[in-house]
Amino acid sequence: MASHILIVEDEYKIASLLKDYMDNEGFESRIIDNGLEVIPWLQNHHTDLILLDLMLPGKNGTEICKEIRRFSQIPIIMVTARVEEIDRIIGLEIGADDYICKPFSPREVVARVKAVLRRFSQAQLPQTGSDALIQIDPESREVTVSGHELKLTPSEFDILKTLHSRPGKVYSRSLLVTETQGYDFEGYDRTIDSHIKNLRKKIAVHLPGQDIIVSVYGVGYKLVLPDVS
Ligand code: CA
Repeated sequence: MASHILIVEDEYKIASLLKDYMDNEGFESRIIDNGLEVIPWLQNHHTDLILLDLMLPGKNGTEICKEIRRFSQIPIIMVTARVEEIDRIIGLEIGADDYICKPFSPREVVARVKAVLRRFSQAQLPQTGSDALIQIDPESREVTVSGHELKLTPSEFDILKTLHSRPGKVYSRSLLVTETQGYDFEGYDRTIDSHIKNLRKKIAVHLPGQDIIVSVYGVGYKLVLPDVS
């Protein structure tokens, strides 16, 4: 599946140039030109990486980046003309993964995007060994937790599989609906909560005292796998 790149840039020329590079590489890309629209977009759409301009109307890139880091580790590449900002950008203070200076070359942007995506997907690979805490077989639709088989409804299975595919990634209720049902069905958001409640109960039987499905207030849910090292 193609990676989804969100381009946040208010200068039309630069934004469409970036979009051309991304589309040429086979990525799915989308442009947002106002800082206020970024977080709502992320909460409702699957996104793999953000190219984030620093100076934006509505809300600046620094603020957006800090806010995103409160609920997501999604890769962020800052795009800036302000060389003096770079130390802060890549430092812990803001939490971006990399930066690109304007003016940039197409080849450089593509290389950075690919490198960051590669780094991120390696870090995020779910446990797949035979001793993994949770094992999910998408073909037989069987789930085991600590070696015990779980009996799940089809919706519970789909939700757990989605959360498990990217541990640590926060899924909003409507994103869970879209990713598990394949379409956005209004009014379904609240039933996600009851599926999650049932899933937690079933998992807790085999993992007492460990809540691996974590609610993120005002956003949604994520799966947190305990460190087994
Ligand atoms: Ca700008």
